[in-house]
Amino acid sequence: MAKLLVIGCGGVAQVAIQKCCQNDGLFTELVLVSRTKAKCDALKEKLAGKTKTVISTAEVDADNVAALCVLIRDVRPDAVLNLALPYQDLSVMEACLECGVDYIDTANYEPENTDDPAWREIYEKRCKELGFSAYFDYSWQWAYDERFRKAGLTGLLGTGFDPGVTSVFVAYAKKHYFDEIHTIDILDCNGGDHGYPFATNFNPEVNLREVSAPGSYWEDGHWIEIPAMSIHREYDFPQVGRKDMYLLHHEEIEALARNLPEVKRIRFFMTFGQSYLTHMKCLENVGMLSTTPVEFNGQQIVPIQFLKTLLPDPASLGPRTVGKTNIGCIITGVKDGKEKTIYIYNVCDHQECYKELGCQAVAYTTGVPAMIGAAMVLSGQWSKKGVYTTDEFDPDPYMQMLNEYGLPWVVEENPETVA
Ligand code: NDP
Repeated sequence: MAKLLVIGCGGVAQVAIQKCCQNDGLFTELVLVSRTKAKCDALKEKLAGKTKTVISTAEVDADNVAALCVLIRDVRPDAVLNLALPYQDLSVMEACLECGVDYIDTANYEPENTDDPAWREIYEKRCKELGFSAYFDYSWQWAYDERFRKAGLTGLLGTGFDPGVTSVFVAYAKKHYFDEIHTIDILDCNGGDHGYPFATNFNPEVNLREVSAPGSYWEDGHWIEIPAMSIHREYDFPQVGRKDMYLLHHEEIEALARNLPEVKRIRFFMTFGQSYLTHMKCLENVGMLSTTPVEFNGQQIVPIQFLKTLLPDPASLGPRTVGKTNIGCIITGVKDGKEKTIYIYNVCDHQECYKELGCQAVAYTTGVPAMIGAAMVLSGQWSKKGVYTTDEFDPDPYMQMLNEYGLPWVVEENPETVA
């Protein structure tokens, strides 16, 4: 019996909300709020008569802490699930603290304006000290840990698939399969085809910023940064087939490196087709991925935001995407003195997701774990006070819910490894 306030109503939120409604014994009340209230109303309409969950809607600008506080005090939710953009993470965390409510999200904070001098000064210091230059990192949200502890609140960060499930897979491996983990390779494969020459499968701005950034990985206690897309491997993904994949920086590496100091190397690979890479390079070369405003016909526009308006809305890809995703972790280490390698992964079919919820698999594989993270906090199964990532709790109830809510996983022993 819980009331959840969900912020954002895009591709990921629409899955998480529908999944909460399938779990209506726990999520008895949902309040859907976003910048565009019409999207919340349309989803409420779609769910009418299909769930016992009582749904209401409202409009909010989640960049505005005062407006969020007015809303939270009015709604009085048991927790807030933030499925807007990473830009809103800190304002929503701040409002949750001020109003005494637990906080859950799926993505690491990054600023919308990377030219902001105050942010830039801290960012440049971090690049030098830590050795990776991605715009996002956990320091901003980990800085809330003490205040959340003192307030007796839980902040659960990054409960999507990656980050989110991938870190739960590692915690599960540590609990059940290893005495010591030595290496982790996180492999994110999207074998889906939407038929467009170029489209992103989640928010284009966030996706293109992430993918065009230099790659980096963790080895022997420090970061190694490489030019974007400069480490390429091929892998034969179960149920998908052989795909090209590239090493990227990814936020769970940072959390896993901190929380599992024994691990010698952590890498993240994502698959990309040649068409995607060629388009992205071209857009980057002509300046369309820039976050710095330019003047056009007397108006300031941000090139990457303008590009977003031209690209297909990721939430609209569902009907036309065929194929499967395969996301998981290859983990090596030692158990009872013997070396061991396992591969834990989930395979998700785009068309099955469309049949069930009207979405594609990337939104599905993020929205389901968002609901599960909220369920963990609201049911009290994950109730430590402070700010945590998903690898810092008991993985078993989360793994069980993945099986129950559409993301079954397998553990394969002695898989093909990545060179
Ligand atoms: P979308 O762009 O589809 O949706 C974002 C939603 O947030 C929209 O409804 C948007 O409103 C709303 N929003 C944006 N700014 C504000 C604001 N200031 N106030 C209120 N609402 C706002 O994004 P996705 O659904 O694709 O992604 C959602 C989140 O999930 C992102 O943070 C993304 O990084 C994360 N993600 C995580 C993954 C993981 O595996 N961990 C994988 C994929 C995504 P409007 O409709 O008006 O634009």
